Amino acid sequence: MSFNSAEKQPKPLGRLVEVYLSLGSNLGDSRQHIEDAVKHLRESDGITVMKLSGYYSSAPLGMESANMFLNRCVEIATSLEPLALLDRLEEIEFICGRTAGKGKHHDRTLDMDIILYGEMVVSFPRLKVPHPKMAERRFVLEPLAEIAPDLIHPTLRRKAARLIEAVSDQQVSRESFEKT
Ligand code: ADP
Ligand code: MG
Repeated sequence: MSFNSAEKQPKPLGRLVEVYLSLGSNLGDSRQHIEDAVKHLRESDGITVMKLSGYYSSAPLGMESANMFLNRCVEIATSLEPLALLDRLEEIEFICGRTAGKGKHHDRTLDMDIILYGEMVVSFPRLKVPHPKMAERRFVLEPLAEIAPDLIHPTLRRKAARLIEAVSDQQVSRESFEKT
């Protein structure tokens, strides 16, 4: 049996991808739901939380509701493949009390969307990345621009701050909560 140096190397870790998530809530204690979601991300195998934006509030877009949304963007480094990551996000949504049906525009305790997965373009029935609606949503772009000012959208070839120009009529305000 040989003991060359290659055999002494630790098992290689999966490649890590820089991923941006959009978290939103407009039901119950929204700030608490988003904080809980970040805690669950931190405790998830294969996920490291790298950066957190501040909190932003915005009026519901594309749905009728009296409840304002609270939104936040999170950068993670992950070894999970896109669909495995979506599975984990759906588990966290469920743990955080989400009951409303998927794909319907309901009030929700927690929504976790994959906005960007490195430079990858993915199109499965249940997962499209870059998120097809991100450029239409100031509540996604504003917190993204805060934590990733130099990031360029892989297909639109624009930074978030530039994409915001087209949706600047949407009102989004940064809350002064302390970051946790
Ligand atoms: P919303 O569009 O408000 O996020 P839902 O959370 O109910 O609404 O999600 C609707 C569907 O979008 C889900 O069935 C999910 O599988 C799908 N989906 C497609 N692309 C993505 C993505 N990038 N991130 C999260 N969900 C996605
Ligand atoms: Mg969603």
